[in-house]
Amino acid sequence: RFITLEGGEGAGKSTQARVLAETLSARGLPVLLTREPGGAPGAEAIRSVLLGSGPWDGVAECMLHFAARREHVARSVGPALEAGMWVVCDRFADSTLAYQCFGQGVPRAVFDALAETALGPLRPDVTLILDLPPESGLARAAARGEANRYEALDPAFHARVRAGFLAIAEAEPGRCVVLDAAGPPEDVAAAISAAVKKRLAL
Ligand code: C5P
Repeated sequence: RFITLEGGEGAGKSTQARVLAETLSARGLPVLLTREPGGAPGAEAIRSVLLGSGPWDGVAECMLHFAARREHVARSVGPALEAGMWVVCDRFADSTLAYQCFGQGVPRAVFDALAETALGPLRPDVTLILDLPPESGLARAAARGEANRYEALDPAFHARVRAGFLAIAEAEPGRCVVLDAAGPPEDVAAAISAAVKKRLAL
């Protein structure tokens, strides 16, 4: 079973991914908790390049994300799924669609071609989209001392990213669940747990 968490800056994805992985482990299920960009040695190296340099041409950035993703899937996610593990991943391909296509204006066809090449038919079984107004998320990210180039971009960029995630959810209601991430972490965790139980008949 392949579960991804998506959303903008400061939505609480990393915390919630950890809590979900712990919840599944506590039920005796084998779990791989991982993240993107990264999740495998080469993919983590690409993450450093992506976050440490730039600004990137949008298409080049998409290609780097998919190179990292391919490595991550080939070395970590794919083998774990084949071994029957549950995989909980903090960000996946929807982030590329939301940030690079909706946010930066890279054509959808570029995303589709790279996704086909890098992933073939692999899709998450469930995608939890943690939704939050960008100003709240950016304030949370700033409060924990994170200030990267994306967070420095204008609010309109983050509004497009948020709209992108919501459009993805609307287009694929069978896979995606939108959850309000504005409340306390315990409430978000409970909503995630309920959604995963319902969708994956846990
Ligand atoms: O989720 P995390 O904070 O680890 O992501 C690292 C950074 O990479 C974030 O600022 C995020 O906005 C950015 N990112 C991106 N495009 C993606 C995935 C992540 O711009 N496809």
